[in-house]
Amino acid sequence: MLKDEKAIVVFSGGQDSTTCLFWALKTFKEVEAVTFNYNQRHKQEIDCAIEIAKELNVRHHILDMNLLNQLAPNALTRDDIEIKEGEDGELPSTFVPGRNLIFLSFAAVLASQVGAKHIITGVCETDFSGYPDCRDSFVKSLNVSINLSMDKEFVIHTPLMWLDKAETWGLANDLNALDFVREKTLTCYNGMIGDGCGECPSCKLRENGLDNYLSTREGAAK
Ligand code: ZN
Repeated sequence: MLKDEKAIVVFSGGQDSTTCLFWALKTFKEVEAVTFNYNQRHKQEIDCAIEIAKELNVRHHILDMNLLNQLAPNALTRDDIEIKEGEDGELPSTFVPGRNLIFLSFAAVLASQVGAKHIITGVCETDFSGYPDCRDSFVKSLNVSINLSMDKEFVIHTPLMWLDKAETWGLANDLNALDFVREKTLTCYNGMIGDGCGECPSCKLRENGLDNYLSTREGAAK
């Protein structure tokens, strides 16, 4: 049934959203992607997203979200704010308040314009830094609010919600996209494509997940 329908993927050019893009391409008849430009610290993020969308032949929308940077200066948008993991239950300095609320709401407006019923986001509750707007309860609640606001029946999909990073690599592999995701996506906070700098929290999470996934796969092959 989903094969007849159209979807829009919230797409940053990173590991998670690129895996979601592959998932959507397999699941839906027609797929478009939307990337939000909020003056990310690394302009490469936008370029990387453009390249991937082009290569996968996906119609790509880039929306200007500079407003978010103006409202919520943060370590992902400002060079002078250090990237820190949260201590004592605090959120990390990379948290942008309201980001997924705003992104998913704008994605839904775009979805209504292009006639897409499905919205896909790579948020994940399992392995993340405790961002409140990555929680399943938040996404479900927003789905209800968005539908009430536009009198529509959008469905927000979160294929990664309960996966850890190793399982996300496993999903990419199941979609025949492991090498693509590994080589062409950008998750590094220092702006390095592929395996990245290896030092920042995002690279460490990605690398640990990949190591875990590859070691379980080798174990299974024996
Ligand atoms: Zn890095």
